[in-house]
Amino acid sequence: MPKIIQLSPHIANLIAAGEVVERPASVVKELLENAVDAGASKVTVEIRDGGMTFLRVTDNGCGMTAEDAQTAFLRHATSKLRSAEDLAAIGTMGFRGEALAAIASVSRIDLMTKTPSSIEGVSLHLEAGEITERTEAGCPDGTTIIVRDLFFNTPARMKFMKSDTIEGSRVTAAVQMQALAHPSVAYRMLRDGKEVLSTPGTGKLEAAVYCIYGRECAHMVKVDSRWEQYSLTGYVSKPTDSRPSRAHQTFFVNGRPVKSKLLISALEEAYRNQIMVGKFPACVLHLALPANTVDVNVHPAKTEVKFLSEKSVFDCVHYGVLGALNKTPDRPNVQFKPAPKAEPVAPSQPPKAPIVKQENFFRTMTAEEFRTFSTAVRESPKPKPEAAAATAAKIQQTTLPPLRESVILPQTPSFPSPAPIPQVRIVEAPKPVPAPPPVPQEAEAEQTAMDMPTVADWKMVGELYNSYIIVEQGDNAFLIDKHAAHERILFEKLKANQEKISAQSLLAPIPVRLGPSAAGELLANRAMLEELGFEIDEFGENTVVLRQIPMDLSPENAADAVESLASDLLNGRHEEKDTVRDEILHTVACKAAIKAGWISDDAELLALVKQVMEREDLKYCPHGRPICITLSKKQLEKQFKRS
Ligand code: ADP
Ligand code: MG
Repeated sequence: MPKIIQLSPHIANLIAAGEVVERPASVVKELLENAVDAGASKVTVEIRDGGMTFLRVTDNGCGMTAEDAQTAFLRHATSKLRSAEDLAAIGTMGFRGEALAAIASVSRIDLMTKTPSSIEGVSLHLEAGEITERTEAGCPDGTTIIVRDLFFNTPARMKFMKSDTIEGSRVTAAVQMQALAHPSVAYRMLRDGKEVLSTPGTGKLEAAVYCIYGRECAHMVKVDSRWEQYSLTGYVSKPTDSRPSRAHQTFFVNGRPVKSKLLISALEEAYRNQIMVGKFPACVLHLALPANTVDVNVHPAKTEVKFLSEKSVFDCVHYGVLGALNKTPDRPNVQFKPAPKAEPVAPSQPPKAPIVKQENFFRTMTAEEFRTFSTAVRESPKPKPEAAAATAAKIQQTTLPPLRESVILPQTPSFPSPAPIPQVRIVEAPKPVPAPPPVPQEAEAEQTAMDMPTVADWKMVGELYNSYIIVEQGDNAFLIDKHAAHERILFEKLKANQEKISAQSLLAPIPVRLGPSAAGELLANRAMLEELGFEIDEFGENTVVLRQIPMDLSPENAADAVESLASDLLNGRHEEKDTVRDEILHTVACKAAIKAGWISDDAELLALVKQVMEREDLKYCPHGRPICITLSKKQLEKQFKRS
């Protein structure tokens, strides 16, 4: 073993830089947080070449004295923390005292700063963390930091940088994030001389949201709830305006943008039974809680937090959002709203179980919260068994001879069901129409994905709910989910074709507005997307334009497909080309497939059934849901007490 030595401060800073300073966007984040901590009300960010060669942040905050300005660049130099006790209740954005030191160690910096009480300001120049020049300077109150040639002395890091376009988009995303985090600060951003963002800094969150998301946010629902020591404010999307990915979910905890699975599940729990599987709510939510109930010191970039009471936080977000959604008067009737173009329904994939059970909640609720909550619950959509029964009842009323027993389906799926049509088409079945089969709990296990029969003599009996095709073969009936089946067939077809996927050029290119950093990610994968039939170009901040899409995808579905692709790519699926390709094919297949609830003609249905019945490999859709379930004659006989 070599002898142990202590690392030099320069090397220690380089190591810290690896954690804090990943790319221009992370530099900007740190500098913007410093500006907020300095009490600035106006902050301007300017970048050139994606922030790689030039990045300037100017604020009108408290500034630094000449002495402080030099100390600021030392490792663990901070004005925000004095004792270990302070660490337990941090009220500032920064506190680790390493950002300036880390940034300085991998760049060339110019700093100009002046406090209101001093007559002259100070100007410093640093090269790789060393102060090389120090002069007095006439400058306005506040601080300006220019970071040039980021990573000029760490070529290994430099290699990880993407194109200027992508890095630039990430910087914009970081500024947007800060603007949403601090609505009382006016942010302005210039990218290569062009203004790409400007918020008024009025303190109103909606103003900032509007500047960033544009008109899209006009339909969002306001959340404003207080509970115990917590407050939750912001905007969430209506269930009908859900998104194909989580890219538009933004959470702040005490003004800090955070990534938190807990907050995501609390939000999504509020949409349970109201949103389609595979769709996600959008939000900009601020959670404010006492500083001593949250630990922000669990991650160098401070994007993760730990809550003292996860349960209370979950409840606060869950019921805060639920209450807001239930207050909106035009809440859609998710159960029976006619939806001829409904998205796929997923019988075997109910949303994830809630982290916190409702029963626990009552123990910690105040009386007032309980009242609000119980109203919310009363108004929330009815559980599914009743819905299924009601659907069945409706069908009975209109066309079918009355059944003796009302139909109760086990395994309640939780999504809006497609509207029942007043007719069940029968192709060649002289027998009584198969109504939704009464299947009690114990029969559930038997009704699994089928082992595909190879015997040929089957016949198509009809279709249920414009979604499930009924096929009879010997002593078995099969219910085929037409969307899932079609999706799988398309997927196989696309996958088998290893060549470039055939594409259609769009006469009118489609602009797609995306969440922060999604546009950059798509553009970074442009070559691969092109192989898959998408031609995508940059089109301003957060927006791309589609010029060409795969042949099988209809233009109306293209924007949605691209948004889910971006989210797949952002979720780190870009390592393996085959996986990404598969993901993209899933998305294309899913968007291009006929949907549950659509009216299909018999020829179309028959073609699907033929493939499903003949091909053993078609068992599950690309997302793992079964394509076909079996209902045996025996099962039915048992139900009718015949056996
Ligand atoms: P931290 O923010 O964790 O304290 P930094 O390295 O980011 O650590 O900054 C070190 C110190 O420099 C801060 O504590 C603050 O006193 C000072 N400082 C940095 N940026 C500014 C600014 N824009 N205006 C005033 N003071 C600043
Ligand atoms: Mg800081």
